[in-house]
Amino acid sequence: MKKGLMWQIIGAFILAIIAGLLFGEKIEVVKPLGDLFLRLIKFIIVPLILSTIIVGVTSTNDVKKLGRLGGKTISFYLLTSLVAISLGLLAGYVFSPGIGTDIELTGQEEVSVNETEGVVQTILNIIPTNPFEALATGNVLQIIFFAIFLGVGITIAGEKAKPVQRFFDGLAEVMYKITSIVMMVVPIGIFGLLAPIVGAYGAAVLLPLIKLIIAMFVASIIHVTVLYSIAVKTLGKMNPITFLKGIFPAAVVAFSTSSSSGTLPVTMKCAEENLKVSKETSSFVLPLGATINMDGTAIYQGLAVVFIAQYFGVDLTFSQLVTVALIGTLASIGTAGVPGAGMIMLTMVMAAINLPLEGLALVAGIDRILDMMRTSVNVIGDASASVIVDASERKRKKKTVAPVNNASM
Ligand code: ASP
Repeated sequence: MKKGLMWQIIGAFILAIIAGLLFGEKIEVVKPLGDLFLRLIKFIIVPLILSTIIVGVTSTNDVKKLGRLGGKTISFYLLTSLVAISLGLLAGYVFSPGIGTDIELTGQEEVSVNETEGVVQTILNIIPTNPFEALATGNVLQIIFFAIFLGVGITIAGEKAKPVQRFFDGLAEVMYKITSIVMMVVPIGIFGLLAPIVGAYGAAVLLPLIKLIIAMFVASIIHVTVLYSIAVKTLGKMNPITFLKGIFPAAVVAFSTSSSSGTLPVTMKCAEENLKVSKETSSFVLPLGATINMDGTAIYQGLAVVFIAQYFGVDLTFSQLVTVALIGTLASIGTAGVPGAGMIMLTMVMAAINLPLEGLALVAGIDRILDMMRTSVNVIGDASASVIVDASERKRKKKTVAPVNNASM
């Protein structure tokens, strides 16, 4: 990624905050710039995911390798999500954001709870009954499933499927090029998205919940700088500063858009160009991560549950905390990578331990602010997995290649 773009992103970020503070709600006029960027980035996603995953699968040329890649990726995602939710719970007890909060619930709050389907149905839903519908509606998990199967089919079919493979190869290249063009408007998009948010949230909305916001911020920073840094250093053999610098543009886009899926093209670009992750790995690990790996959301769920329990004066038992950790991890996996999804999934965790659902109204007012932080963590987490899985695949390749070299000497 070009150095100049990085500085433009930082500049847009600072400018957006200044403009939001200066002009307040009037800065809403720049919102179309944000929408322009969002639409551009959303229009890339479906063909990008489809073509890059197919290329990823066909270039591995080995179904077993795919299973290994999937196993490593999902284990890493699950483990870090569990750590994240525990950190969220801990932050809740350390900061006690729900004690002494002077917000009044009037009892009139409408809390609509979407019926969450059971775990079995959720898993079954990954299989699209009509792949074209999945593509048309942008159902990322179903598209991933379709793309992987298509890739496996192409590999098995061999010679006859070569034209299909070449077609998707070409399409992937085209999508990468389109992504590069769209990247040029990233700074404008960040300004257009962020300035209206800064302008809309006055001190009156933020101050009563400032402890909650600070707790989320601190837990997020710790998760990123400690857990991911240790993980990329030890498992990915990468300097954590290089990692954080490389993924920074994607983190800022995530912060501005509150959408992991929307940030995906930028995350892929940063991983491949700045972190030198192979396309093979990134095209598989990152779309999957944008859909199922939500460490920031997991932190938020742990923290929000403790906050709401404190507000209502409910003492959570140890077994309730364990339930929160387990259900919260599942809920974070089920969260879609779109704005506000994590708050809807929070109801699932609250229901599991019988917390009053109207407590959701407490956090709803500032959800966007929390969403910005959790989405950045989500995206950084996906990128850390791509670095680690890529390093372990490279190590494996070296090991399997080495004996051949020795033999030929
Ligand atoms: N907005 C988050 C994301 O896209 C999901 C959430 O609401 O927690 O990653």
